[in-house]
Amino acid sequence: MTKKLFDLDSYITCCDAQVLSCQPAKKNGISGFAVELDQTCFFPEGGGQPADTGSIRVGDTSVQVLYTYEQDERIFHLCDGELAVGAAAHAVLNFEGRFANMQIHSGEHILSGTILRVFGLHNVGFHMGHEINTIDLDGEISPEQAHQLEAQVNDIICQNRPVFVSYPNPQELAQIPLRKKPEVDHLRVVVIEDCDWCGCCGTHVARTGEIGFLRITDVQRYKGGTRMSFLCGRAAVEDAFVRCQSLKQICASLSCKPQEALANVEKLKAELSEKKQALAAKNKQLFSLMAEQLAAQAEPFGSDRLVLLRDDSLSADELKVFAAQLSHHPGIVGALFTRQGDTLSYALCRCADTACDLRALNQHLGKTLSGKGGGNQELCCGRLPICEEAELRSCILSFVG
Ligand SMILES: [Zn+2]
Repeated sequence: MTKKLFDLDSYITCCDAQVLSCQPAKKNGISGFAVELDQTCFFPEGGGQPADTGSIRVGDTSVQVLYTYEQDERIFHLCDGELAVGAAAHAVLNFEGRFANMQIHSGEHILSGTILRVFGLHNVGFHMGHEINTIDLDGEISPEQAHQLEAQVNDIICQNRPVFVSYPNPQELAQIPLRKKPEVDHLRVVVIEDCDWCGCCGTHVARTGEIGFLRITDVQRYKGGTRMSFLCGRAAVEDAFVRCQSLKQICASLSCKPQEALANVEKLKAELSEKKQALAAKNKQLFSLMAEQLAAQAEPFGSDRLVLLRDDSLSADELKVFAAQLSHHPGIVGALFTRQGDTLSYALCRCADTACDLRALNQHLGKTLSGKGGGNQELCCGRLPICEEAELRSCILSFVG
C-alpha cells in the first residue's frame, strides 16, 4: 500500500522515497516502466481527476513520469526509463498542471454543491479534460439559470472560504449533509465551508479564492438532463480573452459596438439570402438564354443533338440549374462540366423526347474517364478527374459512334 502524501496535503510538490518495484508496463496507451515507491505526492487518475506527471530521480538518473495510476491500493508511476529497485529516489511533481487540476476540482465541488442547493439537481458525471471540463446533471438548467449560477459560484470563490479534508467516523458522518452517498467505509470528505460536503479522493485548493474564476462556457441538453462545460483559473481567463478578442475583431470588421454585433450579423445574413435569391433568378434567365443559343448550335448525337459545355465559372449546383433549362429543348442531350478544385463536376441531361439512354451514357463516362456519379433518365451528376474538353467530347461522342 503506497503512502499517499497528497491525501492530507495537496501542496506537497516533491518527496523522497524508496523504489519498491519497477517493471515494463503499458497503461492508458503509454508504454514504459511502472515504478512503485513507498510513498508519493503523485495523484493517480481517479474520481474524474487526471493523473499527475513529473519526474523521478535516482542518483544521476532522471526519468519522466508520463502517467500515474492506482492498482490494489498501490500507486504506479509510468516512467520513460527504468529505476533500480531498492534505490533512494526523489520525486518531483509537475505542480503547474496539478494546481490547475486542484482549481478545477474544487471549482467543480462548488458548482455541484450550489446546483444541488439552488436547483435540487445532482451531478451524475464529471470529466476533467485538457480543453474543457464537464459535469452532467440529472435535470435541465437553462442558459439564463446557468448565468445566475455562475455569479453565485464566483461569489463563493471571492469569499475565500476554507476547503478542508476530514475522515469522519460513522457517527460524525451521519451528521454531515453529504452531496454524494459514500461508496466506501473509510470515507474521505472534502468540505467547502457552508457550501459543499462530498466524498472525494481528489486534490483540492486550501481556500476557494485560489480558484480565481469559474466560467460556465456551455450548457447543453444531454441524456434527458444537462451537460455543463466550465473552466477555472488561468484557463477561464485565457478563454474569455480569446472570445473577447474575436468579438473585438468582428466588431471592428462590422464597425459596430459589441452589443450590436448580433443584430448586424443577422442583417448581413438576411441581405445575403436576398441577394442569393436575386442571383438565382438572374442565373435562371441567363441559363435559359444560353440554353436557347447552345441548343440552336447543337451537334449531331445519334438520332439526337448534343450540347457539350465546359464552363469553370459555374458551380456544381449551377450546372444542375443549367441542365434543367437545357432539357426543355426538343431533341437535346446535354453534357455540362465545371472544374471544382482538383476534380471536374458534371451534369448529364436530356429532353424527354430524345432516344438517349442517359444512365447508360453516365456509366460510359464513368468507365471511360474514371468518373463517379449517378442519377436517373432526366439528370445524372458526378465527378471526374480533370481532363481536357477534347477528351470529354471524344468520350461523349464515342457513346453513339
Ligand atoms: Zn471530487
